Amino acid sequence: MGAEPRRDAPERMVAYAVIFLGAPGAGKGTQAREMSARFGVPQISTGDMLREAIAGHSPLAWAIKARMEAGELVTDEVVCDLVEERIGRPDGANGFILDGFPRTLKQADFVDRLLADQGHGAPLALNIVVDQEVLLKRLTGRRTCPVCGRIYNMYFNPPLADEVCDVDGARLVQRADDQEAAIRQRLVAYDGETKPLIEHYRERQLLRDVNGNGDREAIAEELARILRGA
Ligand code: AMP
Repeated sequence: MGAEPRRDAPERMVAYAVIFLGAPGAGKGTQAREMSARFGVPQISTGDMLREAIAGHSPLAWAIKARMEAGELVTDEVVCDLVEERIGRPDGANGFILDGFPRTLKQADFVDRLLADQGHGAPLALNIVVDQEVLLKRLTGRRTCPVCGRIYNMYFNPPLADEVCDVDGARLVQRADDQEAAIRQRLVAYDGETKPLIEHYRERQLLRDVNGNGDREAIAEELARILRGA
């Protein structure tokens, strides 16, 4: 007698590797986290991995930190090494979601090669499209509680008292790369280096556009529908 399928087993994604594309502030991190929970696969965020890596004290860590704080991209070599190591871990056996990677054509070629070497199919790229005005408000308005990590937005989801965390009363902070000059540089890097990836995947019919302007839950439903293969 065959085993009954587990009722609480997460659904399978339509592709083994899913890539979240979109400008800074498009909501890639938030939605990738949500899809990672729904489909039971890891969210591999190069931004988060780099923020962890720069907590160390080495000349490489300082060099990475300087680039990140200025809103510039970190070198392909550093980022590809991090991703290769992360993808090799056992929790990625059923697939994974890449958040913030690839960001250059070189990184995209690297992903293609890695998937082919491991005998997996082509990735699916989800392009979250958000109006420029909304992007700027999401980025300049973002504040984080340094104590509990809760994220606010001064335009869309402000704390009850000005710049102070509702949970613990700590003064909210702004990520160094959310300050105006760095935001400008991040948008330049996106336009110059990352935007061409949209065509790279579209030409191969591996891209789906998703309207990311609306409400967070509605966007999540649309993404989940696509990831189920609908
Ligand atoms: P994020 O949290 O994805 O916005 O990333 C924050 C910063 O980390 C970026 O502005 C870059 O400096 C760096 N970074 C993250 N992912 C990459 C990547 N794939 N390639 C190069 N730099 C990256």
